[in-house]
Amino acid sequence: MVFLKKEMKTFHIHIQGVVQGVGFRPFVYKQAKKNNLKGWVNNTTDGVHIHINTDVTPANNFLQELLNNLPPLAIVTSFNIDEADFHGYDSFEIIQSESNAKPNLLLTPDVAMCKDCRKELYHPENSRYQYPFITCTNCGPRYSIIKKLPYDRVTTTMATFEMCDVCWEEYNNPMERRHFSQTNSCPDCAIEMQLYENNRWTKSFTNLDYIVEKWREGKIVAIKGIGGFLLTCDATSTEAVDTLRKRKKRPSKPFALMYPDCMVINKDTILKEDEKKELESIYAPIVLLPVRPISERKNNLALEAINKGLSRIGIMLPYTPLYDLLLQKFNHPIIATSGNITNSTIIFEDEKAVGELSKIADIILLNNREIVVPQDDGVIQFSEKNRQKITLRRSRGKAPIYIDPKLILPENTVFAAGSMLKSVFGLINSRNIYISQYLGNTESFDAQLNYEKTFRHFQQILEADIDTVIVDKHPDYFSTRFAKKLAEKNRAKVYELQHHVAHLFSAIGENNLLHSEDKILGVIWDGTGLGDDGNIWGGEFFVYEKGEVERAFHLDEFDFILGDKMPKEPRISALAIAHDIEGSEKYLKRKFTDIEWKIYQKMLGSEGNLKCTSMGRLFDAVSSVLLNCDVHRFEAEASMRLENLATDYYYNNKMILADSYFKEDNVPQNFVKFLFKEIFRDLDIGVAKEIIAAKFHLSLVGYIIHVANMLKISRIVFSGGVFQNALLVDMIHDFMRGKFDLYFQNEFSPNDEGIPFGQLMYLAGNKIKHSV
Ligand SMILES: [Zn+2]
Ligand SMILES: [Zn+2]
Repeated sequence: MVFLKKEMKTFHIHIQGVVQGVGFRPFVYKQAKKNNLKGWVNNTTDGVHIHINTDVTPANNFLQELLNNLPPLAIVTSFNIDEADFHGYDSFEIIQSESNAKPNLLLTPDVAMCKDCRKELYHPENSRYQYPFITCTNCGPRYSIIKKLPYDRVTTTMATFEMCDVCWEEYNNPMERRHFSQTNSCPDCAIEMQLYENNRWTKSFTNLDYIVEKWREGKIVAIKGIGGFLLTCDATSTEAVDTLRKRKKRPSKPFALMYPDCMVINKDTILKEDEKKELESIYAPIVLLPVRPISERKNNLALEAINKGLSRIGIMLPYTPLYDLLLQKFNHPIIATSGNITNSTIIFEDEKAVGELSKIADIILLNNREIVVPQDDGVIQFSEKNRQKITLRRSRGKAPIYIDPKLILPENTVFAAGSMLKSVFGLINSRNIYISQYLGNTESFDAQLNYEKTFRHFQQILEADIDTVIVDKHPDYFSTRFAKKLAEKNRAKVYELQHHVAHLFSAIGENNLLHSEDKILGVIWDGTGLGDDGNIWGGEFFVYEKGEVERAFHLDEFDFILGDKMPKEPRISALAIAHDIEGSEKYLKRKFTDIEWKIYQKMLGSEGNLKCTSMGRLFDAVSSVLLNCDVHRFEAEASMRLENLATDYYYNNKMILADSYFKEDNVPQNFVKFLFKEIFRDLDIGVAKEIIAAKFHLSLVGYIIHVANMLKISRIVFSGGVFQNALLVDMIHDFMRGKFDLYFQNEFSPNDEGIPFGQLMYLAGNKIKHSV
């Protein structure tokens, strides 16, 4: 018999955000027990619901207590408490999950192994000692294994694994840290590994020493991880790395590395605190780190084979227990690169892995936990001096959510199609933002399929009924065509947004400046995007004021010839910019055959050429002239090498703005042509190339300052692929901070991956009506 005090009522609490797959219900259970409250908690498709018997004040206090003590992975975006019809409960319980409404939930990303699990993994007395799939409510795969909402064991690919008695007991015991841990398993009810070698399968494979042995022999091993397969080999063996390059058909793009721990990383780079923090974070991204000079390096890295002369290497830590176990045994760095043929999507299905990766890898280590959503590893870096964080790829660990409670989002269900080379899409659904992982280069058919499949997955689990679509102005992007077709089917409204304006909104949205009182100057520099005038843009200065955007200034136009060939061959940019400069022939002619030279010269003279203002092409041109980087072997290679060339000189010499080519008291009519005249003159008199490269970078800072002063705007946002250049970012900080308000992107990439977020922000900036 339950005795009810007179003031006893029933309260209903509703919490939304990242609240599933993070141990939220067990957490509520424990707090309720602690407070002697009775009622229940459950998971639904629109968040977590709680009922409790108590009075107003203690009910509010209880909610506050929950919010103040959230589990590590939980993020609350909204909460509500109200009085419900009275119902007396005689205990507190976790009750069955239910699908009660249109999904209104944020999907929990996959996160790296937590410290508690790591401790258990290496504790000989623990029942999960050296078990490669140890997880708990605070770590492990989530987004990559979920098929449906709400998140529960039966809606994930863990559904096929039956828990043993001990795990089941743990799962049901509120005092255990694996209470309601949906990824729970142990050696007795294990996720099993299989080895594929020489057309032979070994089931129930457990011998990790064998893998390490293969690395030592210089073999290539494909390993199924969280988001897909990684191709691995010993990073100290030039032969192994070269073999991998040959088989993967990736002649020169740098490879990422996985190190056992920070101590071993320190042998090859001087790890800074912010970098270490990122490496060890739950996102566990690849961090680009400056490599030590050869005399100081201790791991005997096959550096030339790994990064082909660039000064930074991409490093990550083992983020799954399996990788951790393997790397601890090996105790050296390995190459860990996405398992695919170059430019295709990361392979994540067992069958496809055996079919395709067996052409690259000598052995394949699989496991029987299915992956639903493939994801590459994320990539970030910090600028050397001012420690500006730059995201290069936002993927595993971050996707598919973005949370900013300050953003006011429309009620519409919006699909933002993104761009082409670095395809990512975005959604607004039930006033939540979803930004997909990096989906590949949709020039490839494989990536197109991946894009479509990932979209269908989102649409299905969120029951998203798209009513608004926003696309890039470029009619031929795969994403644009896909989204327009979708809009037609759904009778959705279609918005088109110019490529660089989308970059601008991405930076403005991320920095919460949509409603800025002050005018904003947007410096948007990237490769190529279709402009409003039908030309190719990419060196743009926009003025943003109260939601309106004006193209206020841009890089001097030069001819854009040969279509897609120009972005792929920096020598053509050099020719297009500098062909009519006196004395340029001796630097340019040798890059072309006689026939090419003749034809291209003629083309450049003709009327009706497309015009181009792309800063990316200007970098290409300078890189071609200084470094003979004439044909890209991978995207943005020329710019990366040019940055690389200038880096040491800049940091080791105290340069001032007056050292650059840009002179404020003598501003040239045509900045682009002027730059090349100066560069040729320096080359003629034998100035060192690294100095010319540094002066070139610095000139761009002078140019930005000039335009900002001319337009009398001090609040500046930067976006576009050029701002992946950490040296340029550092120079901007060095010479502009204090005098200007500077805003960079750091959560989203300044490259085209940031486009869909910008497209969404454009609509959120009051372009579509919403009721609050
Ligand atoms: Zn854990
Ligand atoms: Zn078990």
